[in-house]
Amino acid sequence: MCPSETVSPHRTGPPIITDASKCTGCLICELRCSLRFEKAFNPARAAIVIRRQTDSPNEYTISFTDKCDNCGICVRYCAYGALNQEKKSGVT
Ligand code: SF4
Ligand code: SF4
Repeated sequence: MCPSETVSPHRTGPPIITDASKCTGCLICELRCSLRFEKAFNPARAAIVIRRQTDSPNEYTISFTDKCDNCGICVRYCAYGALNQEKKSGVT
C-alpha cells in the first residue's frame, strides 16, 4: 500500500507520512505518545492508533485521533520506517 498523509484538525507540525506495510505492531509509538500526554505508558490514551488487520494486505493499520498535533515524537521512535515526517519548511 502507498504511504499516506494524515489529516488532523489540530495539526501544528509538518504532516506525518505513514507506510503501514512497514509497521511491525511494536506499539512503541503508542507508548511514547501516551507518555507525552499522560506522563505514563498507556497506549489506550495515545493519539496514534495501531490496529491489527485480518482482511488487509498490510498486517497493521496506522491512524491518528484528533488529539494528534503532529509533534513528531512517534516518528522519531519508530525504528521500522513506518512513520516519516516532512521537514519544516521556511526554516534556515
Ligand atoms: S508505526 Fe512504527 S513504532 Fe508504531 S507500531 Fe508500527 S513499527 Fe512500531
Ligand atoms: S505526532 Fe505526536 S501527538 Fe501525534 S501521534 Fe505522534 S507522538 Fe502522538
